[in-house]
Amino acid sequence: MKFHIVTIFPEFFRGPFEHGVIQRACEAGRIEIHVHDLRTWTQDRHRTVDDRPFGGGEGMLLKAGPIFEAVEAIWPDRNPGRRVVLLSAQGRQYDQRLAREYSGLDELLLICGRYEGVDERVAEHLADDEISIGDYVLSGGELAAAVVVDSVARLIDGVLGNQTSVVDESFGELGLLDWPQYTRPAEFRGWKAPDVLLGGNHEEILKWRRNAAREKTARLRPDLLSD
Ligand code: SAM
Repeated sequence: MKFHIVTIFPEFFRGPFEHGVIQRACEAGRIEIHVHDLRTWTQDRHRTVDDRPFGGGEGMLLKAGPIFEAVEAIWPDRNPGRRVVLLSAQGRQYDQRLAREYSGLDELLLICGRYEGVDERVAEHLADDEISIGDYVLSGGELAAAVVVDSVARLIDGVLGNQTSVVDESFGELGLLDWPQYTRPAEFRGWKAPDVLLGGNHEEILKWRRNAAREKTARLRPDLLSD
């Protein structure tokens, strides 16, 4: 799968994509990540990407023109396997269900806002989806884009070594949180790992894990059980 990111801070992504699973997936050719500098599609000497909002108010907005030109240059034609996503605090809440949907696409293009946001015509006439990663306001869409790339990439075949790790995770097929996990030592500062996990009875372990996952979900995320 191919990811495209349109941003005024392309260097931002050096950190997030040069570690662990994502770095290995790129090296193995399972995914491609192309980071595009929005200023490439400016026409003036100062490479201007922003302007003041009509009607007044604080701050600046990213202009529609360079963003439309960026998307049209990256994808001269659009098709159902390609999705344009605007990262925005006002967007629909991003979740694992949407991550799974995106992991079935051929290509995903993420537009990172900055300043006070983006000219609304990008949401109205260019983006397929307007997505928020949570009910809080970030300074820019770059962190949100990194979250989307990471969460989608790990669902793509061959990116994680062991596909069962995706199935058993939080928000997986059962719609629960992951079960609590423990590692050595079996007793740490007087707190013991559950005996059943040390016993080697796989049926009992599975039963304990399912119950523990349900109990933890009910305690921390009851909203998931009522869905
Ligand atoms: N004025 C906007 C508002 O109140 O909704 C906030 C703009 S924010 C400072 C700048 C950019 O950060 C946005 O255009 C968007 O791309 C990104 N951003 C901020 N919060 C976000 C969130 N929760 N999810 C995704 N992107 C976000």
